[in-house]
Amino acid sequence: MAVSYKELGLVNTKEMFAKAVKGGYAIPAFNFNTMEQMQAIVQAAVETKSPVIMQVSKGARNYANGTILRYMAQGAVEYAKELGCANPQIVLHLDHGDSFELCKDCIDNGFSSVMIDGSALPYEDNIALTKKVVEYAHQHDVTVEAELGVLAGVEDEVQAEESHYTKPEEVIDFATRTGCDSLAISIGTSHGAYKFKPEQCTRDPKTGKLVPPPLAFDVLHAIEKKLPGFPIVLHGSSSVPQDEVDTINAHGGKLPDAVGIPEEQLREASRSAVCKINIDSDSRLAMTAAIRKYFDEHPEHFDPRQYLKPARENMQKMYEHKIVDVLGSNNKL
Ligand SMILES: [Zn+2]
Repeated sequence: MAVSYKELGLVNTKEMFAKAVKGGYAIPAFNFNTMEQMQAIVQAAVETKSPVIMQVSKGARNYANGTILRYMAQGAVEYAKELGCANPQIVLHLDHGDSFELCKDCIDNGFSSVMIDGSALPYEDNIALTKKVVEYAHQHDVTVEAELGVLAGVEDEVQAEESHYTKPEEVIDFATRTGCDSLAISIGTSHGAYKFKPEQCTRDPKTGKLVPPPLAFDVLHAIEKKLPGFPIVLHGSSSVPQDEVDTINAHGGKLPDAVGIPEEQLREASRSAVCKINIDSDSRLAMTAAIRKYFDEHPEHFDPRQYLKPARENMQKMYEHKIVDVLGSNNKL
């Protein structure tokens, strides 16, 4: 039995993105795989009065089961209401859908937004696949994110050796012919906790830390000029906070030279037509840092609630920081 996201209290991205582009802020898109992540996302969104996109990758579906994640998103809406938010704006989004069948399955099972990622295909094939998904999705009032250009890095099953910036001269043709609602572009962000190789970075002489190359704002601005007001999406936009990496490394972890996108650059992007910013690795780091520290300090404990509670609190703190200090989506409900 097919179920519409509207029955679950979810919303699509249409109005949310229009407001974000106009208001010069971006909607947080947080990936989730576990109950603790879901709770932390909802608590942060309610606390800051922010709309939020909860997204599920193919890897998350493999790990947690797609049906369970859908019910968790339904639970997220009810939980937000219980926490005092009368009208939560929560999107359940498929991250990096790789086939029409997967997108259709999600649309039929309560997702309010899907991404079809045909970015690895030849240009015309990407258009044909995206158009097919858009036609089905729009019959159900579900919004579609497409991708043009290739991001480097590893994210679950999505990986590429090197990035290819989106070509601004292609975006009008692509958006018009596919009918997509938003477009993920490549301007130098990258998946994972190792976004850049040390040889792509410079090193801060004082701290010895890697300083990544800047995002290609010229490409972003050229795209904005071609498609004024069209919702743009940035993937791979974790900042890989050094304090979390340091905590992990101080308590038995080994993450040498992990590096992300500086938050000042994401703040700048949020003020442009970029209206959705994807953050996954930072949540993984916040969870792992809290758990490693807890294990180190309490070797006698073995109740998962004891170490998952500080992990959940650390993720919530990170989500609230992103919403308030980086994306500016607080007080927008
Ligand atoms: Zn991505």
